[in-house]
Amino acid sequence: MEKQAEKSAKREFLRDKKRIVIKIGSSSLQRPETGNLDYTKMDVLVRELCNLRNQGKDVVLVTSGAIALGKKVVNISDLSHYEEDQATAVKQACAAIGQARLMMTYQKIFAEYNQVAAQILMTRNTVVDTLNRYNAKNTFRELLNLGVIPIVNENDTVATHEIQIGDNDTLSAVVAAMIDADLLILLSDIDGLYSDDPRSNPDATFIEEVEHLTDDILSMGKQTTGSTSGTGGMNTKLTAAQIATKSGIDMLIANSKDVKVIHRLLSARNIGTLFKADKDPVFDLPLFIEKIHK
Ligand code: GLU
Repeated sequence: MEKQAEKSAKREFLRDKKRIVIKIGSSSLQRPETGNLDYTKMDVLVRELCNLRNQGKDVVLVTSGAIALGKKVVNISDLSHYEEDQATAVKQACAAIGQARLMMTYQKIFAEYNQVAAQILMTRNTVVDTLNRYNAKNTFRELLNLGVIPIVNENDTVATHEIQIGDNDTLSAVVAAMIDADLLILLSDIDGLYSDDPRSNPDATFIEEVEHLTDDILSMGKQTTGSTSGTGGMNTKLTAAQIATKSGIDMLIANSKDVKVIHRLLSARNIGTLFKADKDPVFDLPLFIEKIHK
């Protein structure tokens, strides 16, 4: 059996987190053998989230998987033989198919735990446009007031390049900032931040805590994802870290291979990388989003 990480006095403050956004990537939700949904993992994920709700915490789930699942459903594995425009349309169609399936599966599992869940689909316009942002914030606020768990994804069916946020690492940080969360957890196929890509550099060292996002740290953001279905690498996780920490939110990256990591993180175990909140009073979220992923 794998050894449990020790508790850390420095992580005790995580127990008191009240409003938590949790992001899970496509590759974490799929069975590696077939690309089909991993129901056991989804069940454990939902149970963890419901337990947080039962402790009175506000919980938001940002989930990927729509495109990957949709492709699976209609048996499309490779888009490389399509012209660019058609490839986009096929992806959008797959997102429409997959998002509905994904939600159906989540709804079923949440219902087993008597938990109401809701869907919010966003694009870059939801953040950049003042009225859209205002409306989205109100919806989140009311859902959380009602004790609902909002399930968020990018609206991939309509989001073309120009209005895309592009990846769910960034999206989850945007959501965390918009709802004044106090913690963002990115569940990924990697343990956390390394000084270099551990898959290609055996000397790469693991970083447990980042106090300030220095240029040195930001330069560690390479496209280090090992998966083929999601879009996020360490680069997008560091973009998420900038948004979260500048908005005054702590952020954790942890490995999703065992989703029970969520309650372990919140009971002060020394797992993953912790990026400490580092509020920047002049940070402007809509402007930041407008500037990235152009
Ligand atoms: N929104 C995409 C989907 O649900 C995934 C984006 C990402 O993996 O970051 O398929």
